Amino acid sequence: MSAARIRALETQAASTRYDASLAAQTVAEYEKAWRYLRALRRWFVILGLVGFVASVPLVDLSHRPRLGFLGVLPMLWMVTMLFIVAQWNLFRCPRCGKAFHIRFPRGNGFIRRCHHCGIRIGDVPAELEPDASG
Ligand SMILES: [Zn+2]
Repeated sequence: MSAARIRALETQAASTRYDASLAAQTVAEYEKAWRYLRALRRWFVILGLVGFVASVPLVDLSHRPRLGFLGVLPMLWMVTMLFIVAQWNLFRCPRCGKAFHIRFPRGNGFIRRCHHCGIRIGDVPAELEPDASG
């Protein structure tokens, strides 16, 4: 393993954010990648439902005097949802490093297997399993 790779992995380990530009080489890296993808999906569902339900009364309230600023919240919600959907759909497979959900011209954000290498969400390659070496 090169010194640059070790430095990049140390930086990634120090941060809570998943860096998909580094293909996973350890079980911990795979788990971090799958946690990140599950968090994106979870936030999409939670924020989607909460924001959708809350937007109607917020927009209604924003038409009242001195409450116009509340109209900004649904816009912030939409921008946040766009960010989450973009991160979700551009998620890179921890094994092959390619877009997990997209294989031009097809794309499916709910697919459970990588479009390119076929690894399932949550799986770790057998050669990295702790008991694979004996
Ligand atoms: Zn893949």
